[in-house]
Amino acid sequence: MGQALDLLKASLGEDADLGAASEVLLWDQQTYMPPRGGPYRSAQLAGLELLIHQRSTSDELGTLLDAADQEVAGLHPDSDEARLVRVTRREYSRRRRIPSAWAGEFARVTSLAQQVWERARDTNDFALFRPHLERIVTMRREYASFFAPHASPYDPLLDSYEPGLKTAKLLEVYATLRPALRDLLGEITAHAGAVTDSCIQGDFDERTQWDFGIEVLRRMGFDFERGRQDLSAHPFTTSFSPSDVRITTRLHRDLLTSALLSSIHEGGHGLYEQGVDPGLARSPLASGASTAMHESQSRLWENLVGRSRPFWRSFFPALQTHFPQLHALSLEGFYRAINKVTASCLRVEADEVTYQLHVMLRFELELALLEGSLQVKDLPGAWNERMQQDLGITPPNDAQGALQDGHWASGDFGYFPCYTLGDLISVQIFDQALKQEPQISQEIESGNLVPLLGWLRENVYKHGAKFEAEELVRRITGLPTQVQPYLRYLRTKFGEIYGLLS
Ligand SMILES: [Zn+2]
Repeated sequence: MGQALDLLKASLGEDADLGAASEVLLWDQQTYMPPRGGPYRSAQLAGLELLIHQRSTSDELGTLLDAADQEVAGLHPDSDEARLVRVTRREYSRRRRIPSAWAGEFARVTSLAQQVWERARDTNDFALFRPHLERIVTMRREYASFFAPHASPYDPLLDSYEPGLKTAKLLEVYATLRPALRDLLGEITAHAGAVTDSCIQGDFDERTQWDFGIEVLRRMGFDFERGRQDLSAHPFTTSFSPSDVRITTRLHRDLLTSALLSSIHEGGHGLYEQGVDPGLARSPLASGASTAMHESQSRLWENLVGRSRPFWRSFFPALQTHFPQLHALSLEGFYRAINKVTASCLRVEADEVTYQLHVMLRFELELALLEGSLQVKDLPGAWNERMQQDLGITPPNDAQGALQDGHWASGDFGYFPCYTLGDLISVQIFDQALKQEPQISQEIESGNLVPLLGWLRENVYKHGAKFEAEELVRRITGLPTQVQPYLRYLRTKFGEIYGLLS
């Protein structure tokens, strides 16, 4: 291999080490850091980010990239080396637009904001969080301005999670999705009596919930020699390397499936990170293809596996052993309960039919904040108005309204739409897996999740970030990401559960 490429790899390896160190600090902040560690932690994160940003946007790196470009010119365009140079070039061009001082300051501001957000949510105090969010919105508008001209200030933000995705495209997707979901929700509401979920509400020992979640994660193939699960206010996944992947969950004593489905969701992210080809470690390719592709994998495990009949055919008896109060309950009763459709306040607890309505609400509010047509001070009111319009309910307080998600505190404007694309992709990829290996479904029924994991490793995980999401979807399914397969899936599943006419 050429000398420039070797030097580039060495330099990117050091950047990856610094990035992983920063992830350790962030993970610790959200799991074990004592309350007063905050201000120093923010400074530590800001310092590291400044260093990483300076390194990853330096003129030297640009020169190395140019030379490496020459060296990979003769290689297959899909080779690890050619892809490494291409992805690094894309990120280099993006990050060069951002001043290093801004990047450091943004890391400091969002680290502090996350700590304040947790307190604000716990005490239901939007006013406490408001100045932090105002600062973040201002900085996010600055960020967009670094990429001017653009059709929408939201485009550059989307691009940082989903390269190439445009606001106009999303508006198109939502124009189809929203009326279809509202229609389906309307039909289901008229048949609401068909399903009850009282069996999963009550009093469920937290330790037992934790143990069952770990058992499910093991069966999914999550490798506890190369990862661990901890508790946090908002579940998340982070990776320090393919050999050290951290997931978190949170326990609700009164709701049996909350922690479990969240473990399965984060477990899906975790399997993706653990499944990346180790040869890509310490490089920009050592993660998922994009945020949407990542969410497609977490949502695939959570919904298409974790809320499916085949999965519970084998796991329900084990769940009954852990929770004797479920002994009189039938598998069918449980399956319907965990798929009950209700207009509710919290996105993370939402069923599959209302989930995207929650996401669209956030997307539109983010867009309005960035465009300046909505002020942060008016956000809780705007939130509640939209909830009323889309779901027919008004949150009892801001903790269950505009304060519920951590994304805005961490500055992640543009992230929510990735949950939409993720859901669409999850259905297309899962369909393809069953088409290529129909036995996967029977194996899941008998409790064997290995064949599905193997297929996903081979087709999705191992590639890391070598291919962009849309490219990977096409490679796997032969088609672009589409809305209709997702809507067909929802209509079939919930039409059957609620006895709707098709
Ligand atoms: Zn996720």
